[in-house]
Amino acid sequence: MPTLQSQYDKARKVLPGGVNSSVRLNRALGTPFYVSRARGSRVWSIEGREFIDMCCAHGAALLGHAHPAVERALHRAVEVGLAHSFETEYHEELARKLCACVPCAERIRFCSSGTEATLHLIRACRAFTGRDKIIRVEGHFHGYHELIYIGGHPPASCTENRTHPYLESPGIPAAFADFIIPIPFNDVDALARAIAEHGRETAMVILEPINYNSGGIQPRPGYLEAVRRLTKDAGIVLFFDEIQSAFKKSPGGAQHDLGVTPDVCTIGKAIGGGLPLSAFCGRADIMDLFQPAGPVQHSGTFNAHLIPVLAGLAFLEEAAKPDFYPRLQQLENLFHGGVDQIIARHDLGMIVPRHGARFNILLGRRTPAERYEDTFCHDRAVMLKIIKACYDRGVYFHDYGGGPAHHGYSIQHTPEDIGRVLDVLDEVLGQLKDVLR
Ligand code: PMP
Repeated sequence: MPTLQSQYDKARKVLPGGVNSSVRLNRALGTPFYVSRARGSRVWSIEGREFIDMCCAHGAALLGHAHPAVERALHRAVEVGLAHSFETEYHEELARKLCACVPCAERIRFCSSGTEATLHLIRACRAFTGRDKIIRVEGHFHGYHELIYIGGHPPASCTENRTHPYLESPGIPAAFADFIIPIPFNDVDALARAIAEHGRETAMVILEPINYNSGGIQPRPGYLEAVRRLTKDAGIVLFFDEIQSAFKKSPGGAQHDLGVTPDVCTIGKAIGGGLPLSAFCGRADIMDLFQPAGPVQHSGTFNAHLIPVLAGLAFLEEAAKPDFYPRLQQLENLFHGGVDQIIARHDLGMIVPRHGARFNILLGRRTPAERYEDTFCHDRAVMLKIIKACYDRGVYFHDYGGGPAHHGYSIQHTPEDIGRVLDVLDEVLGQLKDVLR
C-alpha cells in the first residue's frame, strides 16, 4: 500500500511540489493529503485511514462527498450527451434560480473557478466606469490572477507603507500594482481618504463582506452601509466577493444576511455541489456589457459546462429543502457551543469566528479581530501542531501554511461527527493549553 510519503516522492517527479494547487501541500503532515475515496462526511487517505473531513474542499463540498443528488446529476449529464459549448435550457434555469436568490443579481454568467469569476467581472466594472483603479481591502482574497493578486496579504513590515502594494507572487509585473489601492478592513475613514484621492480613477471597491480568508473577520456594524454610501456617491462599483460566503448561511449570501446590496458580486464553491462552477452577477446595466449584448469579452470553451450546471441545479434543489439550513444551523450550534466550552474550560487564547458552515481558528486572541493586522498574533507553528494532532486522531483539518484559515462541515456531517471532532479538539487543545494562553 502506498504511503503519503511514497506518493509524494513519486508525484514530485512530475508535478511541481507534488500537487496541482499550491495550498495542497499540508505542512502539518509534511506531504499533501493524498486521498483514495470520499463519501458523505468522510475521506480515506491512500494509506487506508478514515477521516472526518473538516476541509470540505475549502467550502465547495457543502453537500459533502458523493451526495446522491449530485451523482444523479452526473448521470443525467451523460444521458444528455455531455453537450458542452452549447447553451441548454438548464443554463437558463440555473441562472434564473440564482438570480432569484442573490439580491444584487439581475443577470449572471458562469465559469469554473473563483479566480476566473473575479477576473471577468473586474473587466466589466472597468468598462462600465471607464476607470482602471481598484480599491481593495487587506487580508481579503480574490483569486490568483495578476489583476488582483496584489496587496492582499502583505507581511507585517509592508502594511505600514500602503502606497506600495505588496506583489503576492514573483512573476507579477510591478506595473500592475499601479492600479491597486489597498486599504484596511473596517476603517471607513481610510476608504473615504482613498476615494478623495483616487475616486475619479477608481472603477470598483472589492471586498469579502465577511473576511473568511484572514481569520473570519466580520464587518463592524455600519461599515458595509458606509462603503455602500461612499461608493454610490463617487460612482464607483461596489463588488462583493462571495465566492466563499455564498450559500453558507442562506441562499442570499452575506449580502442578504447583512442587508447591504452591492452592484455586482461573485459566487462560487458550494454552488457546484462539489463540481467546478462559479458565477459573476449583478446589475443588468453592468452585466449587459458582456458580448454579445455589449462590447466586453467573456468567452470560453468550458464556460458553464453541462456537468457542473446540472450539479448546480441539484445543489439548489437540496439547499431549497426546508430542513437544509436548519440542519446546518443545528451543526453550527453544536460545534460552536462545544468549542466555546473547550476554550473556557482550558482558558485558551483563541477565537473561532463562524458564519454558517464555515469557521476559522485564530490563535493568540480573546476578542474578535477587526482587521488584517489583528491576525499577526496567530502562531503558525502551534496551528500546525494542532492540525497534526487532530490528523493523528482521525480528523482532517487542512493546513494553509499554518495561517488562520477556514474550515467547515457539510450537510452530510452528523451530530455524532461533530461530537467526535469536539472530543478530539478538547484533548488536543487541552494538551497544548500552556502554549495557547
Ligand atoms: N475569492 C474568494 C473570497 C475565495 O475564498 C477564493 C478561494 N478561496 C477565490 C476567490 C478563488 O477561488 P478559486 O480557488 O475557485 O479560484
